Amino acid sequence: MRYSDHAKPVITLTAGPVNAYPEVLSALGRTVLYDYDPAFQLFYENVVLKAKKALRLSNMPLILHGEPVLGLEAAAASLITPDDVVLNLASGVYGKGFGYWAKRYSPNLLEIEVPYNEAIDPQSVADMLKKHPEITVVSVCHHDTPSGTINPINEIGALVSAHGGYLIVDAVSSFAGMDTHPDDCKADIYVTGPGKCLGAPPALTVMGVSDRAWAKMKANPLAPRASMLSIVDWENAWSKDQPFPFTPSVAEVNGLDAALDLYLDEGPEAVWARHELTAKAMRAGVEAMGLSVWAATEAIASPTTTSVRTPDGVDEKKLRQSARERYGVVLSSGRGETMGKLTRIGHMGPTAQPIYAIAALTALGGALNAGGGNYQVGKGIEAALAVIDADA
Ligand SMILES: *Cc1c(COP(=O)(O)O)cnc(C)c1O
Repeated sequence: MRYSDHAKPVITLTAGPVNAYPEVLSALGRTVLYDYDPAFQLFYENVVLKAKKALRLSNMPLILHGEPVLGLEAAAASLITPDDVVLNLASGVYGKGFGYWAKRYSPNLLEIEVPYNEAIDPQSVADMLKKHPEITVVSVCHHDTPSGTINPINEIGALVSAHGGYLIVDAVSSFAGMDTHPDDCKADIYVTGPGKCLGAPPALTVMGVSDRAWAKMKANPLAPRASMLSIVDWENAWSKDQPFPFTPSVAEVNGLDAALDLYLDEGPEAVWARHELTAKAMRAGVEAMGLSVWAATEAIASPTTTSVRTPDGVDEKKLRQSARERYGVVLSSGRGETMGKLTRIGHMGPTAQPIYAIAALTALGGALNAGGGNYQVGKGIEAALAVIDADA
């Protein structure tokens, strides 16, 4: 079978990886420079400087050459030592998952877990920190994508900072789609990547690291070195005058460069605004149609993904297959715990455009009705349009 034998979707509205911006796709076809060509080393330094600007960091960020799970695992391996007491905050599949990595590097794991349609209450974190002054590291996922819910990381970060702990944040699917930056939440390690709201393919990690986290990792004799999981090896790799520990993913860096240009040129505030408007229109349409949003409250519903609760008796997998076959629209499933319970519509990068909310509502409602449902697709579209037009 050749690639062209697979029917291409008409519209991909997934919660990541996303269909990349056309400008990013063409950047992927730029010349693959030799990594030690001074032209590449200078280019790489410039890409890291663009990432620094996008992340609004005062020190240099870091690119690791694998999708953000590499960055998250590397953060656990490098920052967490057997002496640390880790508080992991779990409001979804990713938050919970980080606890398993943390546990590999320290046996001392505490956890706050809430139902996967809710968010972490900062008061519960404050209480836990007070009860356990021995906590040294706190980990939290900002946007738990398989739920489409947002945790209050700035409030949590302020508490962790006052406590003197180190904070690890998974901001993979929120950064560049809403107002979030490492310094705003006082993150010591802030992990994101190009495959979600930056609208590029998913093969890199972009990471912010605080000066105190650098010091802790460099002092950790167990922190990976000469390994794909090494963060410390890459500390100075941004500089055109320093060697790379191993070969960087040249084509992916070309793509990231174009994605950062698009983000910075459009203006971050404008990019966040279209993510927010698209999600708001989507939620209004979902409710007006007779469906319900998975997130327990509007306040914690993500601006970059809308999760729609699967009605009783509906086979979620068949629902997505039907939307794909009938209309060529690709939607995301849940993952782990949320698999089968919800369908996700991503509003990320190029698909954070309000008109795609209309397309998603049509495909979702149409597929449900084709399967015997009785949803008011027209009402959903009207409600979404009202939100969009109120903003115009
Ligand atoms: C996409 C994503 C990642 C990256 O990991 P994959 O599961 O491999 O896609 C990590 N954290 C969150 C919250 C994500 O949405």
